[in-house]
Order: sequence, then C-alpha cells, then structure tokens
Amino acid sequence: MRKLVLFMCAVLIAAPAFAKMKVFVTIAPQKYFVEQIAKDKADVFVLVPAGSSPHSYEPKPKQMTELAQSSIYFSISDPSEQAWLKKIAGVNKNLKIVATDKGIKKRQMAEHHHHDEDEGEEEHGHEHHDHEGMADPHIWLDPVLVMAQAKNIAAALSQADPMNKNFYTANLNGFTNNLKVLDQQIARITQASKNKKFMVFHPSWGYFADRYKLTQVSVEIDGKSPKPAELAKLIDTAKHEKLKTIFAQPQFSKKEVETIAKETGAKVVMIDPLSADWENNMLNVAKAIAGQ
Ligand SMILES: [Zn+2]
Repeated sequence: MRKLVLFMCAVLIAAPAFAKMKVFVTIAPQKYFVEQIAKDKADVFVLVPAGSSPHSYEPKPKQMTELAQSSIYFSISDPSEQAWLKKIAGVNKNLKIVATDKGIKKRQMAEHHHHDEDEGEEEHGHEHHDHEGMADPHIWLDPVLVMAQAKNIAAALSQADPMNKNFYTANLNGFTNNLKVLDQQIARITQASKNKKFMVFHPSWGYFADRYKLTQVSVEIDGKSPKPAELAKLIDTAKHEKLKTIFAQPQFSKKEVETIAKETGAKVVMIDPLSADWENNMLNVAKAIAGQ
C-alpha cells in the first residue's frame, strides 16, 4: 500500500507539465462561461458556493490555499470582491486578476421606490436611498453583455496559454454564436408576452429587463427587506398590475414574497440568477416572466 502511495506521489510530482490550468471565478454562471471557452484545458473553481449571495461572501481559508495555486482569477466586479481580491493578490504574485466586466457600461441600480407617486408622503427619513446610483453588478444576466465577458475571458486564457490561442478563439466564436441565438430566443419569448412587469425579491434582473424592454419591481428596498408600509405598497402594485407571479431566489428570504403572493392571489416562483446551468436557466427565466 505504502509503495502504491509513493508511486502515486511520484506520478503527481512528475505531472505538472501536463497539469491543467487552475482558474477561479466568483460565481457559478462564470464557470459556465469559462468552460465554453477553455473546455478541458482548465479546472474552474467557483468561489461563492450554491445558496450563498456573492454580495456578502468571504473566502474560506481552504479557498485561499487553492487561490494560491491558481493562475487566473476572473472577477465579476461585485463590490464585495474588492476587499479580498487585494488580499489574494498579496498571497499569490502569479495570480492574474482579470476583470470580466472590462468595457461594459454599468446601469445604475434602479430606484426601487417611486416616492413621486406617493400620496404626498413626507420625504424625510429616506436615508436608505443613499445607495441609489450604485452600479448594478448583475452583468451576467444579459446574453449580449456575456458576449463582452466571454471576449475578456478568451483574451486572458490566450495570454496565459498562448499555445492554445486558436483553440480559445474558435471556442469564443462558437459561444458567441450560441449567445446570439439565445438573445433572439429570449427576445421572441418576451416580445410575445403581455407581461412586461415582474416583481422579484432581489433585483438581479435589471440588465435583463433593460435588454428585453421589461420592468423589474424589486421587493427588496436598497438591499433591505421592505418595512410594513413598503410591503403594503408592493401589495398594491402587484394588485394594480395584476401580477400572477412573484419571484424569489434561493439565496434570499422568501417571506415577503410569500406575503405579497398570499395577499394578491399570485403564486411564488423561484428563479436563480446564480444557476450553474446558465443557458437553460436564462431561457427558463424568460418563460417564467412571460408566464409560460
Ligand atoms: Zn444580486
């Protein structure tokens, strides 16, 4: 047995020349993007595990060790990344941090609460509107913006592994074509639908809404659960708009969504902005919003 272990160690030590590139991404959809381009040439590690929110994640010590052995970190430019990316850069000088949002013009987080429409309600005490104007980090939920992210990913892989540049370029072209088809499919589904407004707990779908001329109504108010008065307004909106579905996601509370659904007779449907099965998920979300 010991001999076998020693033998295996020898093989592992001899292997580095053929070892796959280790790369990190922040969220599961990015793993999907990198794998479309790198295929079997890289092992992709996801920092934020399923069920956690990327907006409040801290890397675990074990992940810091894995990061120390990686060649590329593909950031999505979520504000929470900034704090520990510096830490990681200090641990591993060879780790290339690639901002996959390079060249993408960010939308601002929507103002969730239209006080202009409120019935002369007093405006003070609205400190929580300070976050209004913050750049929306959810750039992975628009196929057209994913084309730009894929380009950045392919460029970084080609730079780290120039021998396979043609391979990465060909895969990028194939993936871009898939994204064009997906974009057209989603456009067709959403255009054919009468539902143009959708209500969701965490406002992840701003780019998606902009792209397909939909309106996202957030249950969360600037990152916080709605207060009772705000919840009452959301119930009014849902009734007024005759919303049949209120969306929730696995990483956040379902409580308020369930309350709104109960009060309005709508049903609760889960949509996951962090699904690892990105492409199918995007289509399913489009269908869910369209009420299919
Ligand atoms: Zn989010």
